[in-house]
Amino acid sequence: MVETLSIAVIGAPGVGKTSIIRQFIYNDFSEVYTPTRSRYVYRPSVILNGNMYELKVLDVPPISSFPSSSSQEWLDLRCRGVRNANAYILVYDICCVESFEYVKMIRQQIVENREGSSSEVPILVVGNKRDLQRQRFTPRRAVSVLVKKTWKCGYVECSAKFNWHVVLLFKELLGIAVARGMRQNHTSIRLQGALQRNRCTIM
Ligand code: GDP
Ligand code: MG
Repeated sequence: MVETLSIAVIGAPGVGKTSIIRQFIYNDFSEVYTPTRSRYVYRPSVILNGNMYELKVLDVPPISSFPSSSSQEWLDLRCRGVRNANAYILVYDICCVESFEYVKMIRQQIVENREGSSSEVPILVVGNKRDLQRQRFTPRRAVSVLVKKTWKCGYVECSAKFNWHVVLLFKELLGIAVARGMRQNHTSIRLQGALQRNRCTIM
């Protein structure tokens, strides 16, 4: 039996969202910046604690705000599936304060827009480009305390470039999501698809 979990990856342009996803799935990294213009869905499979999960990872192109209604989501192709994601990865660049301001805004909007128990959706804030940490705009601790204590979100720093903490961040998010019971679709048909594509990370 395989469980499916949809994860929306959101952040300002150029922070490394696509790089993180591609490093996780393909062990691939490019120095060349190719802006993501339309929404892209990756479907890796992972094994965590002996259980298999099929992830639907949405690489969300730049959006000015979190979709505030289902109709807004359906009218704007870029945000399809964003409102009902089972979990969020909010990425910022540790050297760029504006990218953190963007994460702040999106986090606030997620909480406001997802009512009731669904506002407790797992959110992991990721500080990318850790390899450039001499240029960081604030000490790690300042952000980590705000994110963990005040926002009650997870916090991980990583480097997509050097594949540092990339698997860890997915493992951390999946761990929180599973603990909160945020899973969908129990289906054995999906297992075949996962195995055929021969793309599975054991975490
Ligand atoms: P996106 O717009 O958020 O999807 O960002 P991309 O993944 O396309 O990355 C934007 C640029 O940042 C590219 O030139 C990447 O090579 C670079 N980049 C991504 N991750 C890292 C990292 O961890 N360290 C460094 N030094 N550069 C990175
Ligand atoms: Mg991108």
